[in-house]
Amino acid sequence: MAQILIHSIINSAKRVPKKVHLATRFFLNIIFPQKCFVCGAKNKILCEKCLMKIDYPSLPESNKIFAATDYNDEFAKKAIWLLKYRGVKLLAEPLAELICRRLPPSVKYSISDALNWVIIPIPLSKKRLKQRGYNQTELIARYLSNKMSVKTKTGVLYKLKDTPSQVSIKDREKRMNNLKDSFGIKNAEAINGKNIILIDDVSTTGATIRETRKILRSAGAKKVIAMVVARG
Ligand SMILES: [Zn+2]
Repeated sequence: MAQILIHSIINSAKRVPKKVHLATRFFLNIIFPQKCFVCGAKNKILCEKCLMKIDYPSLPESNKIFAATDYNDEFAKKAIWLLKYRGVKLLAEPLAELICRRLPPSVKYSISDALNWVIIPIPLSKKRLKQRGYNQTELIARYLSNKMSVKTKTGVLYKLKDTPSQVSIKDREKRMNNLKDSFGIKNAEAINGKNIILIDDVSTTGATIRETRKILRSAGAKKVIAMVVARG
C-alpha cells in the first residue's frame, strides 16, 4: 500500500510546480525514510535485490565505453530520471555500485594502478548547473572515486556552451554538430600523462565521450576510457 502511495506521489510530482514538489519530497522523507523506490524495502533508496534485477547491457563495451546496463531497462531509466530531474541524489551510490560491479576484471586490474588514473565526470554547462544545483555525473563519480581509490578532478574539463540534450536530438549528424567545440580544458597540468576515466549517466551514440576524449588527449592525457550507467 505504502509503495503504491510512493509511486503515485512520485508520478504526480511530474505535474506539480517545483515548490510543491520539494514540499512533497520533504513529506516523503519524513513519512518514508529511505525506502527502495522499486519494492519499498527499508533503508536503501534502491535495495540490493532490485539493483541486481537491473539488466546486463546488450553491449558491455564499445570503443572503450563500459556500460553497466541499457537505458531501456525500466528501473535503470527511472533511477537516472529521479537522480537527474527529481533531486534524488541518494541514487548516485547504487548506480556507482552497479558500474563498479559490472566492470570487466581486466579493466579493474588496469585501474588498480590508481595513481596513474584520474576520474573526470562529464560536466554540465554553467547555466544547467545553476538550474539543477548539482551535476549528477559528479555525484556518481565521487562514489566511484571511493570504491576505486582513484581521484576525481572536476576543475579540468568544462562545458563552454549550453547544448540541447543529446538524447533529444534524433538526427545523428546534428547530434555530432551539437557538441562541436562545446567543451574546454583548463589546468591541463593536472591530467598531463594521466589515464582518464570519463563518467557519464547515459551514452547514446558515444558522441559526448568521443568529443571529450579528443580534447583530453590533445591536452596531454594518455588513455581515455569511459564508464556510463546506461547505453541509450
Ligand atoms: Zn527493492
